[in-house]
Amino acid sequence: MMTPQPVRGTQSLIGEEVDRFHAVIAAFNRVRRLFGFKRVEVPVIEHTEVFARSIGETTDVVSKEMYTFEDRGGESITLRPEFTAGICRAYLSEGWQQLAPLKLATYGPAFRYERPQKGRFRQFHQLDAEVIGSADAIADVELLSLGDQLLKELGIAEGVTLQLNTLGDAETRDAWRNALVEHFQAHRESLSEDSLVRLEKNPLRILDTKNPQERPIADAAPAIDEFLTPEASEFFAQVTEGLDAAGVKWTRNPRLVRGLDYYRHTAFEFVTDRLGAQGTVLAGGRYDGLIEALGGPHTPAVGWAAGIERLGMMIDKPEPERPFAVLVPVGEAAEKRAISILAELRSIGVSTDMAFRGNMKKRMSKASEAGAKYAVIFGDEELAKDMVQVKELETGVQRAVMIDTVFGLLRK
Ligand code: ATP
Ligand code: MG
Repeated sequence: MMTPQPVRGTQSLIGEEVDRFHAVIAAFNRVRRLFGFKRVEVPVIEHTEVFARSIGETTDVVSKEMYTFEDRGGESITLRPEFTAGICRAYLSEGWQQLAPLKLATYGPAFRYERPQKGRFRQFHQLDAEVIGSADAIADVELLSLGDQLLKELGIAEGVTLQLNTLGDAETRDAWRNALVEHFQAHRESLSEDSLVRLEKNPLRILDTKNPQERPIADAAPAIDEFLTPEASEFFAQVTEGLDAAGVKWTRNPRLVRGLDYYRHTAFEFVTDRLGAQGTVLAGGRYDGLIEALGGPHTPAVGWAAGIERLGMMIDKPEPERPFAVLVPVGEAAEKRAISILAELRSIGVSTDMAFRGNMKKRMSKASEAGAKYAVIFGDEELAKDMVQVKELETGVQRAVMIDTVFGLLRK
């Protein structure tokens, strides 16, 4: 019989790969605590309309990439392709509004039906940070500083650039949009099928094209600057001044867009050239229109998401987890006694494992392979005298001690 195969685009991790994954999460948790971003949890599944309405029907995510199914009750359910929409749904349906402004953080799996390749999966994992209920540029600065410090904490800030843009306010964006439509209309005959559809529905998105033939047309498109209202310019200036004050390095990319309709003002991506085509490691922006799109009151908000797998691929190999001590009992009485010593060491917080297979040599090599600091060795004869040998594996220094003192010794 054939054994079951994994679903395409999913991963099962062990060893160094899973250590990388959790090193990213541990760094995220340290940094989000430093910045006062509170943990939240939201469901993996939502009603499909939560994503359709907030991400927008014309985006790739909603039109091509969602895992959507009818459940047994006939409701249309979707596995989350990202966190923001579900967090905003919860903000409205769970009364989180009363707690605003909120600085929130979460992480977990997200699902997109894409062509799997390096750094691109169908089940992937995101870190997510949001500031909801603040229209102040300080919120953008906080959020970007959090991303910046996370990359520093992970030791990968060197190879990563923060590309920053503004999409202006509604007035700015409409004027820019019209100018873009005019520009792309003039080059209609050179546009791909996909871009012609975008021209009708979401022309900003053409700026995002990866098609090499279209790239020059996109690069020649009018930049947003000449359309910025004084208010939008002022807001962007506050963000960039804040970033400078916080020591966050950035570069302006006047053609960077976030395709989603609800984005306003700040848009950004932390980009690396180390991951080939999958170069965006952390991305986000201000989405002042999203909560309204879900039927809520006007609520300014800004957020980002980062791919855990992509960050994990970039960091140095993390230290593997290792026990502090490994017990090496030799003989039947010793093996029996080892169980209670093991229990006692663990109960006082000393991470301890036991090597109880094979001869003495095998047991000792298990202890050193596990990377333990100490091996606690005891045979039946020693036990009769209430003694054990404690060997520091790195130095090879070994001494005999009374069992009673082992606990105090290893606890330190
Ligand atoms: P891309 O242009 O690479 O498709 P995106 O714009 O679709 O990215 P976002 O929706 O902004 O990505 O998601 C934020 C982050 O989540 C990305 O920067 C990336 O690190 C990660 N990410 C997105 N899709 C995937 C995926 N299929 N597999 C792995 N990581 C992903
Ligand atoms: Mg994508």
